[in-house]
Amino acid sequence: MLVMSHIGYTLGITSQVQKVIPNKPINQLTVAVMSLLPDIVDRMLFVFVLPFAESGRLFAHTILFGVIICIALTTISRHWWIYGLAPILHVILDTPMESPLSWMKRASWPIFGADLQILGVDFKAKSLDIPDQITTRITDLTNAYFEASWWYLSLELGGILILIFFFLTRSRSCSQEKP
Ligand SMILES: [Zn+2]
Repeated sequence: MLVMSHIGYTLGITSQVQKVIPNKPINQLTVAVMSLLPDIVDRMLFVFVLPFAESGRLFAHTILFGVIICIALTTISRHWWIYGLAPILHVILDTPMESPLSWMKRASWPIFGADLQILGVDFKAKSLDIPDQITTRITDLTNAYFEASWWYLSLELGGILILIFFFLTRSRSCSQEKP
């Protein structure tokens, strides 16, 4: 999924979860950043660190990563579990971006084997030198955004509409609270 859809759907879902399981008020900016955390981590690894990675979806695009982040945040403060939900939702929301089988294998890594090739890391692959790697991969990632299909763009539009609805209802409830 694209940036606005991740933020929009995650903010929408976490605010609904919070209604069912009462928690301290959530910080929307933190939810937005956490909803993009798997892309931030894996894109950085893909561009700058792992020359053998084949795509920008790596370890942070697994349920295991989301669970580790969720446990770590809950250990720091028990109210932060809701922020730990965001990276897990990211992995689930990325489902339409690839075939169900490859999504399931990667998301559930290492349940069906700890082979790093499941995550698209192939140490036998020919690597580029670092400057070429960085420029080629940044170009690939940018092109992927601009070459998104109508299906992805409609998902993005859905995320933007949720964000507009979310902030309109929030500003209305804030103005009602004022004396
Ligand atoms: Zn992603």
